[in-house]
Formats: sequence, structure tokens, C-alpha cells
Amino acid sequence: MEAPAVRLQGLRKSFGETTAVSGVDLEIGDGEFFSMLGPSGSGKTTVLRMIAGFETPTAGRIELAGQEVTGLAPFERDVHTVFQDYALFPHMTVEQNVAYGLKIRKVPRAQRRARAREALAGVRLEKFADRRPAQLSGGQRQRVALARALVGRPRLLLLDEPLGALDLKLREQMQVELKAIQREVGITFVFVTHDQEEALTMSDRIAVFNEGRIEQVGTPAEVYEKPATPFVAGFVGTSNLLTHEAAQRIVGRPGVYSVRPEKIHVLTGGAAVTPAAEPDRITADGTVAEVVYLGDATRFLVDLDAGGRLTALQQNLETSSEDVAALRGARVRLQWQQRHTFRVPDAV
Ligand code: ATP
Repeated sequence: MEAPAVRLQGLRKSFGETTAVSGVDLEIGDGEFFSMLGPSGSGKTTVLRMIAGFETPTAGRIELAGQEVTGLAPFERDVHTVFQDYALFPHMTVEQNVAYGLKIRKVPRAQRRARAREALAGVRLEKFADRRPAQLSGGQRQRVALARALVGRPRLLLLDEPLGALDLKLREQMQVELKAIQREVGITFVFVTHDQEEALTMSDRIAVFNEGRIEQVGTPAEVYEKPATPFVAGFVGTSNLLTHEAAQRIVGRPGVYSVRPEKIHVLTGGAAVTPAAEPDRITADGTVAEVVYLGDATRFLVDLDAGGRLTALQQNLETSSEDVAALRGARVRLQWQQRHTFRVPDAV
């Protein structure tokens, strides 16, 4: 079997009194788009920097493609890192920026040109080869940084919040493009982000970090639909936890349960706001504490008679903003299918 692109074993890192990473074990497959997701300070950047070789682990072992690299310098690893600020050279043209790494490695001029052009074509920037970074938009600069990373054909590309500086629209567009480029070039991407939607959109698998540890590794669907811990349930999507007491009354079993907002139907005054749920459904009555009209959907915050509060998200199929506003304070019935209720392990 092929060795994983990255294998981390018992990885730790302390900075003086601060423990940034406290025991990470992880395998990232060859060709995977892998995201490290977590709040600020959870240790994901430190893990990325240890993979790149910019930080030395306090303990543990790092293997890349089956080779131990724990003590090696960054340039001795077959890795390239793209940082959030892109670190482009302002006095060089786009093409010179992209070819720079090849020049350092003494690749002949004609070959440098050809490969830089090819890398620029890969990120759809052929026409911008002669411009300088200041003459480009944020998204274009981001793509130059990516072309510069890809031109050296590393086996592994590390990306530290590379879309963080872009506005929302551009960011969403680049998410789709970056994923498409990764699929085309087929190299392993390890992507650090604190944005759960970004991680869900782009990744083959996600590791969710919290306080220097990984709480769960899984596909976007696994992490979203079957969160392993209350932290994951809350960080990836809206947690919507049913506490012990409410779960006992509503689900009929002890434990802490979660149901995602978009799975819940809201029924008012006997008439469904949305089409009625199918059999095998769970029912909970409550009072609408808050309604938020979102344009394409409406978010309801409902205080349950059984205790606690759930968020429900409804598509606005035939509902207008006036209908929605009238529902504040209304008595409602929430329904969802049994199979959308999942138990959150480790919850106390
Ligand atoms: P962010 O999304 O804000 O970048 P992160 O999850 O990437 O956060 P890290 O940057 O890995 O988190 O930081 C983890 C912890 O280690 C934090 O408490 C941080 O303050 C600390 N830390 C990181 N680098 C250093 C350093 N060079 N010296 C001291 N403490 C550090």
C-alpha cells in the first residue's frame, strides 16, 4: 500500500509555558484535499508549520510519503507553503514571481519560462504574465501565489488561510477554483482554515482542532451529520443540542442529542409552514422566541416546552417577510425525522 502523504505521530509543541499542540496523530492520504479546521489558537497553524519545517516539534514524529522528516529543514522537504499574505515580490512581474523558485534551483531560462507559463495557464492567468502584483485584484494575487507554489511541482502543498484576505464573494469563487485546480494537478493539499463552511465546501476530509488536539477526523458529511463531540457539533454548523432532560421527554432516551436546523419542520396552528414531515418523526412543542428573515430562508429560535432552545431553518417557498414577522411569540410544533437525531458522544 502507498504510504500516506503525511503521517503525524504523537506530535507536540510547547512555546515556553504555552502548549500549542498537545498530542496529534493523523494520516493524510496521497492526493487528498485535507483541511485543518478550528478556532483561533487551537494549534492548526503550528501543526502546519511543523509539517513545513518552520517549527521543530517538542515531541513526536513527522513522515512525508513514508520518509521521516522530523529534523529536516524546510528546503529538504518536498513541500511548498502558501501564506495568507501571498508574499509576492512587488518589483517583479507575475511571471518572474512564478519562475523565481526555479531560478533559485538553476533551472535553465527557456524551461523556466515554459513552466511559469504553464503554471499561470493552470490558474487561468496567462494574460497577466507581464503585470506587477500591485496591478492585480486580491483573487488574482492569490492565484499567482498558487501558480508559484505549483510551478515547483511539490508533492504536498500547505495552505495557511490562503483565502482569508478576500471578500466573501471572491472567497466563495476561489473556493470552487482552488478545489478544481487541486483536482486537476492531483497533489495533496493541506488547508488551514477557521471557516467551517469553507472546510465543508472544499475538503475530502477535515480534522477539527480544539485546544491543541484533534476532536474528530472525517468527511464533511461525517463531521457535520455525526459530530463526535459537543465541541464539533457546535463549531461545525449550529449545535442544536437537546439536553438530557429534554431528550428524555422528546426523544424518549437519555443522553445528549443534536438535530441540524434544516432538518426541522416548523408547523404553526395545525397548518404546516412547510410540507409536513413523514412518519417516524419526532415532535416537540414550543414558543417562537425569535424569527429572522434571511431572504431565501427563515431562521426560527424556538423555546421548547421540554426545556432548552432549538434553531430551525426553513426555506421560504411560499412565505413572505410579513408572514414571518407575525410568527414571533407564536406556539409552534417542531417535527423532524428520527434518523436526523443523533447522539453526541462524550457529552456531559
Ligand atoms: P489562528 O487561526 O489564530 O492562526 P491556530 O489554530 O492556527 O490559530 P496556532 O497559531 O497554532 O493556532 O497557535 C496555537 C497556540 O500557540 C496559541 O495559544 C498561540 O498563542 C501559541 N503560539 C503559536 N506560535 C507561538 C510562538 N511562536 N510563541 C509563543 N506562542 C505561540
